[in-house]
Amino acid sequence: MAVRDRRRPEEHRVSDSDTYVDEQEYCISSEADGEAYMRGNQRLNYDDMNVVHLHFYSICNERGWKTPVNPTEFDWVYLDVDNHIVQARIETPAKGGRSVIHLHPSAFSWEDPHLLKGLIHHELVHWVVGPTHAHDEVFEMMEQGWDGFEDYKKQTELFSAWLHQAHGKWVLTCPNCGKTIRRNRKPASQSACRECCIAFNNGLWSDNYTFYIGGDDEQ
Ligand SMILES: [Zn+2]
Ligand SMILES: [Zn+2]
Repeated sequence: MAVRDRRRPEEHRVSDSDTYVDEQEYCISSEADGEAYMRGNQRLNYDDMNVVHLHFYSICNERGWKTPVNPTEFDWVYLDVDNHIVQARIETPAKGGRSVIHLHPSAFSWEDPHLLKGLIHHELVHWVVGPTHAHDEVFEMMEQGWDGFEDYKKQTELFSAWLHQAHGKWVLTCPNCGKTIRRNRKPASQSACRECCIAFNNGLWSDNYTFYIGGDDEQ
């Protein structure tokens, strides 16, 4: 059991009040951070990449952009499926070089394709206007000057509401404090309640605070 005791307690990503609230949707990473990020994020699968290609070319066509020319100029990865805040983001290395575009995996199964197309468009607008414009008027004029903008805006609001409802399939309950968390992905067995581990066990994993699957969830 010595191995287990070294395990880290589960990180909580319960609501917008935690981890992701300060997450920058547009960010310029230092090179080291960028690499770390890449390792943590899975590249798009073949089918999803094909969908991105189609949207990419039709966006560049509709906008009459000369650059970017090809979707392979970017690295495309998924955001964490449990991310309830950010729908997409672009990360550009501080020293220049390839940008990484992160897309929420649920955007690919969203019924209305204007969502995914608009998210890709939004991130490409960041790339086109450059990092100094973040979400300023220059950015907004460029983004809103697109025929697909209104359709996208409606969908991104619906998608945001859906993400905030925490549609996690799995409800986990801490046997000690009774706290529940939701997860979209099947949780690793023996995930422990972070708060109880910190409060009662010096932050170390303990069998006493291991979540069980099920319980009431205060939505
Ligand atoms: Zn943005
Ligand atoms: Zn607990």
